[in-house]
Amino acid sequence: MTVQKATNIYWHQGAITRPDRERMKNHQGFTIWFTGLSASGKSTIASALEEALYEKGYHTYILDGDNVRHGLNRNLGFSPEDREENIRRLGEVAKLFRDAGLINMTAFISPYIRDRQLARSLDKDRKDFIEVFVDCPVEVCESRDPKGMYKKAKQGLIKEFTGVSAPYEAPENPEIHLRTDKLSVQECVQTILNYLVKSGFIPV
Ligand code: ADP
Repeated sequence: MTVQKATNIYWHQGAITRPDRERMKNHQGFTIWFTGLSASGKSTIASALEEALYEKGYHTYILDGDNVRHGLNRNLGFSPEDREENIRRLGEVAKLFRDAGLINMTAFISPYIRDRQLARSLDKDRKDFIEVFVDCPVEVCESRDPKGMYKKAKQGLIKEFTGVSAPYEAPENPEIHLRTDKLSVQECVQTILNYLVKSGFIPV
């Protein structure tokens, strides 16, 4: 657990609240948290889902693992401690996006159950965190290898690579479980849209 360093700080509540922002947009803010091995399809599905939601007039944003490491998290690597801090910060950013009333999607490997649980627990009294397990056997991910990462990891050029030399803890109770070696990208997107309608996140 991260220690609070600063003292004498107070929460300032502005006049415009999250419900105000959500009313303005005609939809609530929530997080769709994609987790899975590298090349399992997180970014591809998040991007296709964003297109589908955008077409329906929803305000969305994708927090992509690699993109965030170019800026906010550029000082973090892939050790267990840095992965924990990476996800802690992104969990907080996702919470800010929910407070802004946006539908935000995160596409990070996020390999540890504990870290994902922490991200989920940041809004204690609201159910607005949808965990999507992007499940694909490591052999299939390896054969896709769009960025050549598995090849480099196998050659020992990348250390602590999830699925090769670092662990991945699969979700035990994800809201949505997608087998991307069996479903097409569009079928995955449709499964998520069905869930969002069924659970009242977006209208029919
Ligand atoms: P990740 O974000 O999990 O690292 P990417 O989305 O970057 O993965 O890469 C996944 C690769 O697998 C892409 O090249 C994509 O076209 C391919 N792919 C094949 N079938 C699927 C599927 N059903 N869902 C998602 N991606 C798929």
